[in-house]
Amino acid sequence: MNNQRLGLLVFSLACISSGRVFADEGHFGYDGSLGPKFWPKNFQTCAGKYQSPIDIEEHLVTRVSYPPIRYHGFADKPVGSTLTNNGHTVMLQLNTEEPLAVSGGPLKDHYLFQQLHFHWGHNDSVGSEDTINNHSFPMELHMVFFNQKYHNFTNALNHEDGLTVMAFFYEVSAEDNFVYAEIVEHLPTVVLPHSEAKLSRQLPLELLLPNDKSQYYTYHGSLTTPPCSEVVTWIDFKESILLSHEQVEEFRSLQDTDGDAMTHNNRPVQPLGNRVVYFNEREDYSSAVCSKSALILISALFIALLATN
Ligand SMILES: [Zn+2]
Repeated sequence: MNNQRLGLLVFSLACISSGRVFADEGHFGYDGSLGPKFWPKNFQTCAGKYQSPIDIEEHLVTRVSYPPIRYHGFADKPVGSTLTNNGHTVMLQLNTEEPLAVSGGPLKDHYLFQQLHFHWGHNDSVGSEDTINNHSFPMELHMVFFNQKYHNFTNALNHEDGLTVMAFFYEVSAEDNFVYAEIVEHLPTVVLPHSEAKLSRQLPLELLLPNDKSQYYTYHGSLTTPPCSEVVTWIDFKESILLSHEQVEEFRSLQDTDGDAMTHNNRPVQPLGNRVVYFNEREDYSSAVCSKSALILISALFIALLATN
């Protein structure tokens, strides 16, 4: 791959790039000749067998009980937060003193936070990328992490276990979500593609998420934007986050790289093929409890039992 092609690939990475868009083979959109149906023309992997998003049918999932997911640094206030319109979505990047990371659950490694971004639709009846029993939610949050052992996001894209994306669905409620107000109020300052803004109030990541994160679906899939790399362990949480209709509507006012309103940026669902979707019903604490002190206690009880016989 020559430097020009490599540059193009890096530029077009899922919701990451903030470089200029050229009217060439790296450009993608959600309508007409730039739409998802035509992505495979320039990005072959977009026609692969392990693509995302998918429809998750609850009656077909395999029920499992993984160890608890560990969230590192999620309660800490970032030092700085930057909101960027990258022409395809709006993303939030955080500067933190300690690295933000996740491990445990279905993950075999430690994954470091890269950025989070959103997908939404024309109106409140559509917008999420994955669907549950063919139900689409008005918006979806993607928190993107790369496997620490691959050192950075770009390198992680070359490995099957390179990324994990934590996905959260939104539902519309009558009330504004006051935590999200900080993000929503800054959207008018990033209407233009490739514009960015600093948040004035710093939000610990955990405030953006629902309380109950014990139930989730997980499967192997891809980035939902070109180059559609099949390197993602998806973790889709069952409990939704609530936003008001007015808050969701603000996202639709952003402009894409063609200067059009970014009314929708959700890829249609792709075939599941022979993949299995797992559903974590409850966390398995047995592995977490098996600490040194628990082992000593069990040994003491065993010895005491022997002594009474
Ligand atoms: Zn995404």
